[in-house]
Amino acid sequence: MLWTLILGVAFAQPVDIQVDMHLDTPTQLLTKGLHMDAPSGLEAGLAQLKRGGTNVAVEVLWPPRNTAHRQRTFDLLSLMEREIKRSSELFLAMEPAEARRVANEGNIAVVLSLEGAHGLGADDAWRETFDALVDRGLRLLGLTWSMSNRFAGSSSDGGGGLTEEGKELVKLAREKRVVIDVSHASTQTTLEICRGSNIPVVASHSNCVAVKRHSRNLSDEAIECIAKTGGVIGLNFHAPFVGGAASPANVSRVADHADHMARIGGHGVVALGSDFDGYIRKPAGLEDASMIPALWAELRRRGWTEEQIRGVKGEHFMRAWSSVRGSGNPSLVNPSASPGSQPLLDR
Ligand SMILES: [Zn+2]
Repeated sequence: MLWTLILGVAFAQPVDIQVDMHLDTPTQLLTKGLHMDAPSGLEAGLAQLKRGGTNVAVEVLWPPRNTAHRQRTFDLLSLMEREIKRSSELFLAMEPAEARRVANEGNIAVVLSLEGAHGLGADDAWRETFDALVDRGLRLLGLTWSMSNRFAGSSSDGGGGLTEEGKELVKLAREKRVVIDVSHASTQTTLEICRGSNIPVVASHSNCVAVKRHSRNLSDEAIECIAKTGGVIGLNFHAPFVGGAASPANVSRVADHADHMARIGGHGVVALGSDFDGYIRKPAGLEDASMIPALWAELRRRGWTEEQIRGVKGEHFMRAWSSVRGSGNPSLVNPSASPGSQPLLDR
């Protein structure tokens, strides 16, 4: 009887939601011919995710330069659909409540993201392609990868802001309640999007320029702007974005980025976007997804409260995603609205 009660209580307790906003595991599965339960060869396979507490995995559809972009996007999507069907522990989550339920049942929710709108294709069928992807579960849209495209400028090639088609895509994404992701976008693109937004904008896997100067990291102005939308920024573990020769990338240096983000945008802007399985150079102590708890221990050591840490783990992203899914009338949002438009949502 006592055990029944104890077990009953144990199962009724909701688990901490831990969201990794950027995992490139689909690319590893495709190129290495692996499955999510592979015993080795992955940084964020099922085993590592479970050991490290990640129960909401944002899996990325990323078309590299030398591929047929739209074809690669759909190849990765189909592959993830097969993985989900094959596994008793993976479930596609189209809504925040589904992700939470899957996590509470002890399983892993998969949320789908596109890294770079070049994946929508090079012709005018990009609108239909976007619709098809959203129908099959796409919930985050990264506007660019490392090269500027027909929609927006990238941070890696000195690109400009949104094009006319880019503005149309942003509007469509808002109508479809897809989270807009500005990681890899140029500063101009980032500021144009978040200044005009009264719904959360995220940078899924980016750090702070003020801590490590790099074109992939965010200026304080961009951090503040994203925070004002109610959005979040995922801490990226790729060593060149984390530290340098004088301060090598390790758990403590990643926490420095968290501290800086919190100083500029408030604790509510800080989230996780490791970039595991994305050909990253790993920081010492964060070699795969099983080691993420070391980061929570470091934040705790620095005086972050348990509530703040739960936020970084996943509640901040869940708040932002829920706002995007639930906010009223996003079709009225104008992506090129004047700076200073007031965010409607809390942070
Ligand atoms: Zn990336």
